[in-house]
Amino acid sequence: MSIISGALYVVATPIGNLGDISARALEVLHGVTVIAAEDTRHSGKLLHHFGIKTPTMALHDHNERVVSESIVIRLQAGETVALVSDAGTPLISDPGYHLVAQARAAGCQVIPVPGASALLAALSASGLPSDRFTFEGFLPAKAGARNAKLEPLREDPRTLVFYEAPHRIEESIAAMAGVFGGERPAVIARELSKTFETIHGDSLAGLSNWLAADANQRKGEFVVMVGGAPQAEQLVDAEAERILRLLLDEVSLKQAAALAAKITGVKKNLLYQFALDLAR
Ligand code: SAM
Repeated sequence: MSIISGALYVVATPIGNLGDISARALEVLHGVTVIAAEDTRHSGKLLHHFGIKTPTMALHDHNERVVSESIVIRLQAGETVALVSDAGTPLISDPGYHLVAQARAAGCQVIPVPGASALLAALSASGLPSDRFTFEGFLPAKAGARNAKLEPLREDPRTLVFYEAPHRIEESIAAMAGVFGGERPAVIARELSKTFETIHGDSLAGLSNWLAADANQRKGEFVVMVGGAPQAEQLVDAEAERILRLLLDEVSLKQAAALAAKITGVKKNLLYQFALDLAR
């Protein structure tokens, strides 16, 4: 594989299991002029493990804007750069956004080298709907800011995905139960691809109890996924739907919803919304 002159490679690295590095990632890391790493000591261990001797430079949250300018100049001079973070895919709750934006704005080629990301690994094994989801990263540490971030998500029908640290996992699950309701289904994915990998699903209230009962489950790295808010169509049961459909053949949509509500006891506005969805 030849490295393209002047290109910035965004290289995913493992989130725990070193076996998850890709053959292409290794080739790129071997072949570029320099590796821009979130933490050069941390990435140094990975590079040493794979016998990669490419020079490294630091690119982290505190120097990213300044260092990005010098990297873009190097790219424009035809050098090649690989961006890596401590684990997983750069830019996903990790540095790199400013570098990629600046490189693209300067007309440099940016090439992703896909690989591990805790977000997608967790979602793929969660059993929660994955057709639509929203990634919310880390919640704020302070209760007020955390609730302010959770509140607007309360009625979101998509699966919600969060990253969380061990010292805040209990607090965050309790806060989610407070805002979304303790009965909302959720899944905790802990230590993915590592020895103590655990993927555990329950209601948010159940997860709170589970964490409280076992200190081992509060250790390591976490992805928390919460099922989306139930939608009208999920609250109208099969019998109510059957009756509504029969009535829709005979009377107006509004009348059908009102009659079906009287017959089934399901809320009229839910049936009305459901009938609208059917009509669409
Ligand atoms: N860029 C990374 C990615 O693509 O997943 C994420 C970096 S972010 C700074 C680190 C967070 O990702 C951790 O606090 C945890 O929430 C999640 N994470 C990383 N590795 C994980 C793993 N092996 N198992 C579960 N969560 C993990």
